[in-house]
Amino acid sequence: MAAAREAAVGVEGFADEEDYVKAGGSEMFYVKMQERKPMGKQNKIGNKLRPIAGGDSVLDLIVIGCGPAGLSLAAESAGRGLTVGLIGPDLPFTNNYGVWEDEFKDLGLESCIEHVWRDTILYLDSDDPIVIGRAYGRVDRDLLHDELLRRCYESGVTYLNSKVEKIIEASDGCSLVLCEADCMIPCRLAIVASGAASGKLLQYELGPRVSIQTAYGVEVEVENNPYDPSLMVFMDYRDFVKDKKPCPEAEYPTFLYAMSMSPTRVFFEETCLASKDAMPFELLKKKLMSRLEAMGVRILKVYEEEWSYIPVGGSLPNTDQKILHLVLQPALCIQLLEEEEELKKTTTPWGFRAPPLAGASNQPYVSELLSFSIERLHKEPELLRVDAERIRRQMQEVAVENYGAFIAASESLSFIRNQLEDFDKHLESLIEEIPNLTSGCSEFLESTQQILEERKLNQTLLANHTTLLDLLEIPQLMDTCIRNGNYDEALDLEAFVSKLSKLHSELPVIQALAADVRKTTQSMLSQLLQKLRSNIQLPECLRIVAHLRRIGVFNESELRLQFLRCREAWLSGILDDLDQRNVYDYLKGMVNCHRMHLFDVVNQYRAIFNNDKSGSEENYDGGLLFSWAMHQISNHLSTLEAMLPKITEGGSLSNILDQCMYCAMGLGLVGLDFRGLLPPLLKIFNLFSKNMSTAVENFQVILDSHRWVPMPSVGFATNGVIDESQDDVSPPSVLMEHPPLAVFVNGFSVAMNELRPCAPVSLKHILAQEVVKGLQAVSDSLVQYNAMRMLRGNESTLFLSLCQAFIEVAFPYCATCFGRCYPNGATLIIESRSLFGGVGRLITIPPARTNSSVENVEGKQQFVDNGGNTSIADNGPLADEQKVEVADTAQTDTALSRTETESST
Ligand SMILES: Cc1cc2nc3c(=O)[nH]c(=O)nc-3n(C[C@H](O)[C@H](O)[C@H](O)COP(=O)(O)OP(=O)(O)OC[C@H]3O[C@@H](n4cnc5c(N)ncnc54)[C@H](O)[C@@H]3O)c2cc1C
Repeated sequence: MAAAREAAVGVEGFADEEDYVKAGGSEMFYVKMQERKPMGKQNKIGNKLRPIAGGDSVLDLIVIGCGPAGLSLAAESAGRGLTVGLIGPDLPFTNNYGVWEDEFKDLGLESCIEHVWRDTILYLDSDDPIVIGRAYGRVDRDLLHDELLRRCYESGVTYLNSKVEKIIEASDGCSLVLCEADCMIPCRLAIVASGAASGKLLQYELGPRVSIQTAYGVEVEVENNPYDPSLMVFMDYRDFVKDKKPCPEAEYPTFLYAMSMSPTRVFFEETCLASKDAMPFELLKKKLMSRLEAMGVRILKVYEEEWSYIPVGGSLPNTDQKILHLVLQPALCIQLLEEEEELKKTTTPWGFRAPPLAGASNQPYVSELLSFSIERLHKEPELLRVDAERIRRQMQEVAVENYGAFIAASESLSFIRNQLEDFDKHLESLIEEIPNLTSGCSEFLESTQQILEERKLNQTLLANHTTLLDLLEIPQLMDTCIRNGNYDEALDLEAFVSKLSKLHSELPVIQALAADVRKTTQSMLSQLLQKLRSNIQLPECLRIVAHLRRIGVFNESELRLQFLRCREAWLSGILDDLDQRNVYDYLKGMVNCHRMHLFDVVNQYRAIFNNDKSGSEENYDGGLLFSWAMHQISNHLSTLEAMLPKITEGGSLSNILDQCMYCAMGLGLVGLDFRGLLPPLLKIFNLFSKNMSTAVENFQVILDSHRWVPMPSVGFATNGVIDESQDDVSPPSVLMEHPPLAVFVNGFSVAMNELRPCAPVSLKHILAQEVVKGLQAVSDSLVQYNAMRMLRGNESTLFLSLCQAFIEVAFPYCATCFGRCYPNGATLIIESRSLFGGVGRLITIPPARTNSSVENVEGKQQFVDNGGNTSIADNGPLADEQKVEVADTAQTDTALSRTETESST
C-alpha cells in the first residue's frame, strides 16, 4: 500500500537523453550513428509537404516525430479530415525493418516489402527449428518512407523541420508545442511519436525503470551460409560462443536474428534480451563475430552495419497530461483521437479502459486487497480509519512542531506577495517606459548609423590620407616646377590630374584639384608666352612651342599666330626702347633691329612650323608668315616714310639708305628682299627741292639788298664749265664778284652736296626740272629786278655783268654739277636754256664788249677782266640790245654746248 501511494506521486526522471545514457551507457554514440547513416535515396519531407501555417490558427493535431509511426498517424488523421501538423527532424529511415507479411498487407503496405520468406523459424536449445508458420518480409525502407510521405502529402499534412523541446498545456484546453528556436505552435491535441526519445516530452508516473533491448546487425556477403535462405530465422537462441571461457559478452543472454537475402547475402543481428542494463554494442558485435566464426561463416564483404537501441517497458505516462504517446500503433491512435473527450474521462492515453479504483497509482493497493482474506478485509476499513487518524495526528504534530516554519512560511508568503506587488508596479512602470525606451533606442540607432557612416568615411579618408595629401599638393608641385622651368614635369602632372578628373568626375575634391591645376596651367601658359616675347634663340623657341602644344589650348594655326604675335611683341619692345627724339639713331636702330631679329624670327618660324611636308590643311599656314613679314616690312617702310623727311643731312640719309639696303639684302636670304620698295621713301627730292628753294630765296634777298658798287676782281675769269675728268667741282671764283649769284651757287652746291651721296636714278628727271626751276626763278628774279629798279650808269653795267655771269658762268656750272651726279644730267639742264631768254635780252652789250665777251668765252681769263672793266667804265651803255641778245645767246649756246659735250664725255 505504501508502495502504491509512492507510485501515485512524482515524475519518472526518464525525460532526456542523459537518461538514455544512464540506461544505455556509452551506447548513445551508436544510436546517433544509426540515426545518421547515409541514406541518400529517400525524398526530403520538407520538399514534399507544405510548411505549417503560422498565425492564430490552431491545428487539430500535431504529431511529433517523423518515424514510421509519426508519418502513418499524420497521414491517417489528415485523411479523416483533421488539420494535422507534423514536426520532427527531416531524417531518412535508417533501420532495417522486418515485419509479418500479413500485418503489412493489412496496412496496405505490401508494395514496400522487398523480400518475403515463406516461413519463419526459431531455434531454442536444439538444432531442430520451431516453424512458426507465418510469412515474414523485409521492408524496403526507401519505399516505405516515400509511401508514407506520399500519403501525408495527399492527405494535406503540413510540416515543420524542427525538434520539439516541450509541450505546454494552455488554460483554454489547447496544447502549445514549443520547438527549437522558440517556435510555438498551438493545437488541440499533441501526439508524441518520437520513438525512443519520447521520454523527454512526457511525464511518467513512478514505476519500474525502462528496460533496453540492444542489437548489433550487419548485412554481409558470406561463404557457408548455415541457414536455408527460404526461411527467416526469427530467433536462434542456441549457444554458439566459441570459447567457453568466461567473458563479458557471455554474461548477456542474446539470440541471432538472420535474414538471408540470397544464399550468400545475409543480414545477421545479435540481439540482447531486454534488460535494465543494456548490453554494450561492442560486446554484441564481439559475440556476433564469435558466433559466426563458431558456425563456420566467413564474411567476405560488409554492406551495412546497424545499431539497434530500443527502450522497452518501464512506467506509464501520467494520465493528467493532455498528450498521447504513440508507439507504432497508428490505427489505434486515430480511434483514440476520435474518442478523445470520452477517453479523457475514462481511459488512459494508451486505450486501456480502467476500473474506477484501478488507476495506475492504485493498482498495487488493489492487488494487495485482492490478496487479503475476508477477515482481513473486514478489518480493513477500521485499519484505514486508524491509519487516517494516525496520519492526521502526525500532521498535527508536524504542524505543532514546525509551527515556526508555518509562520515563517506565511510571513515569507506575505513578504513575497508584497515584493511581487512592488515588482508588478515596477514592471508596469517599466512597460510604460518601454515605448520611450524603444523610440530612444531608435534615435540612438539612427544617430549611431550616421556616426558609423561618418566614421567609415573618416576611416576611408584616413586610409587614403597620404594619397590625398599627395594629390592636393600637385598644384604646389606644379607651381614649383613652373618656377624652376621644369615645364615637362609640370605638364606630366597636369595630364595626370586631367586623367583623374575624367575618371572621378563625381568627386568634388578631384574636381577642385583639377580647377587648381587648370589655374596653374594658365599661369604656365602666360609664362611661356611671356618667354616667347623675350630675346630667345631657336632651341628655346622650339622647347616653348612644344610645351604650348602639350598644353593644347591652341590649335596649330592659333599656335603659329600666337608665336608670331609674341615675337612681334618682342620686336616692338626693342623698338619702343629706342630713343625717338634722335630720328637718325632711331631709324638706324630700327633698321638694325629688323635686319637681325626679323631675320631670326622668320628663320625660327620656319624651323618650328614649316618642317611639315605633309601638305595637310592644318600645317599649311595659309601664307601667315608671309603676311606677317609683309606687315612688319610695311611698318618698317611706313616708319621710314614718316621719319625720313625729318633727316636733313644727305650723309645721314645715305647711311640710313645703306643700312636699309643691307637689311633688305639680309632679309633677302629668307625671301624678304624689300630693296625695291626703298627709293620712293628716300625723300631726297623734298630735300633737294627745299635746298634749291632756299638757294633762290637767298639769292633774291641778297639781290634786293645788293648795292651796285664794283667789287674787286677775284681769281681768273672762267665760265662754269668744268672738265669732266677734274675731281674738283668748286664754283668758279669769278662769281664772288656777284654776291647774289655767289649766294645762289652756294645754295645750289649745298643742294647738290646733299643729293650726291644718295641720288636716286629714278629722280634724275624730276631733280633736273627742280634745278631748271631754280635757275628760271633766278632768271625771272633778274628780269623782274631790272624792271622794278631804275638802274643807272654803273649800276646798270654791274647788273648786266651779273646777268652775263649768270648765263655764262652760273648756269653752265649748275649744269655741270648736275651732270656729275647723274650721267647725261647736264644735258637735261642745258636743254632748258631757252627759259632764260629774259635775262639774255637784258644784256645789251656793245660790239666791242660783245667781242670781248666772245673773246673771253674763248679765252676765259680775259673775259672777266675786260668785261669787268668795261662795264664799270661805261656804266651801262645798252645801245644795241637786240645785238647783244643774239650775241649773248650765241655765246651761251657755245658755252652750254661745250659744257654738254664735256658732260657727255
Ligand atoms: C536499428 C533498429 C532496428 C529495428 N528493427 C525493427 C524491426 O525489424 N521490426 C520492428 O517492428 N521494429 C524494429 N525496430 C523498432 C523500431 O523502433 C520501431 O519499430 C519503429 O522505428 C518505431 O517507429 P517510431 O516512429 O515510433 O519511432 P522512430 O522510428 O524511432 O522515430 C522517431 C522519430 O522521432 C524523432 N524525434 C525524436 N525526438 C524528437 C523531438 N524531440 N521532436 C521531434 N521529433 C523527434 C526522431 O528523429 C525520429 O524520426 C527497430 C529499431 C531499431 C533502432
